[in-house]
Amino acid sequence: MERSCERAIELGLPAVAFTDHADFVKVHEDQYCVDIAGYLDSVERCRTKFPGLRILSGVELGEPHWFPAETAAVLSVGPLDNVLGSVHCVKLEGEIVDASQLRDREGVDLAAATREYFGEVLAMLEADQPFETLAHLDYPKRYWIEGAPPYKEKDFEPEIREVLKAAARTGRVLEVNTTRGDRLCPDMTVVRWWRELGGQAVQYGSDAHSPDKIAAGFHVATQMVEAAGFKPARDPVSLWRR
Ligand SMILES: [Zn+2]
Repeated sequence: MERSCERAIELGLPAVAFTDHADFVKVHEDQYCVDIAGYLDSVERCRTKFPGLRILSGVELGEPHWFPAETAAVLSVGPLDNVLGSVHCVKLEGEIVDASQLRDREGVDLAAATREYFGEVLAMLEADQPFETLAHLDYPKRYWIEGAPPYKEKDFEPEIREVLKAAARTGRVLEVNTTRGDRLCPDMTVVRWWRELGGQAVQYGSDAHSPDKIAAGFHVATQMVEAAGFKPARDPVSLWRR
């Protein structure tokens, strides 16, 4: 975290937010639930060490609608500036599978699994869990199978629109996640639909996972969001609104 703060200062960023994972399923190596008390101590330590940088706290809740008690326990530890809700996993034939594992499943119907994914995002949005921001809405496209027909937003338009409508109805913020500079998640098409369907606000995440990727892809992401009709915020930690 300290190296991430140093990197943020080096880049001239006015602020940084750490939204560590609170995952409650364990279907692959990288899933874990943040030790929230230890995490908040670390945030405080960084704030003391880097007084010129605004450091926001936060958490990314994975599938909070499957784990309401665990979610409440994490959020009860201390106030957080930014709470994201995300889906990484879907249930396929009764088994919990992370979208990154779909390509390892023999004979997987990628389109059907992706529809299942959007259905799960919709369920999460409608489950009344306490998060403000919808993270990486089209996460499965990051792990699209090489050689399969390419991922196209249009192919999932009805499902994505349902997700966006639910997000707008419940007052959520749409995250534009830059996948550490590799891919916009979601892309322009979806951000335009978001605006069209009444979405009020957008925020950015680089999903950096390491200090060298902080804010990677933000130039392109901000240009895209502005072109889709959202206005830059005057305060750099504020949301971009329509
Ligand atoms: Zn995530």
